[in-house]
Amino acid sequence: MARGLCDLCGRPLKLSTKVSLSHARPMPHGAEGWAILQVEPLLHRACALESMRFCPSLKRQILEGDLRIRQVTRWRAQCAVMTAEYVQTVCSGARKALGHGKVELLQWIDRDMEWLKKGNYIDDSRN
Ligand SMILES: [Zn+2]
Repeated sequence: MARGLCDLCGRPLKLSTKVSLSHARPMPHGAEGWAILQVEPLLHRACALESMRFCPSLKRQILEGDLRIRQVTRWRAQCAVMTAEYVQTVCSGARKALGHGKVELLQWIDRDMEWLKKGNYIDDSRN
């Protein structure tokens, strides 16, 4: 997430159309207040379409109207700073660490399956 890699293929998202497939809605717990924070890393457009074609959970969520398809034009990674005391409860060692990574959506365009299915687009990272 912090390195800006695609959730499906693991390649860089930089310079590519970035897609969010998430049910995340605005919540008041962002670093600066209300924000959309999602646990799902972003995807290349082609990878988002591939995910929608094969993932039963995503198919169900789109049918139920729960899933949002967003073309993300600005985003940033957010991580929680975990105290040494907390880290010790989940693994050995007592030192501060970063965890609970999330993608904060800063700017996006709401899209739909028809947009995702449109072919003939160039996604340089997939070539
Ligand atoms: Zn990808």
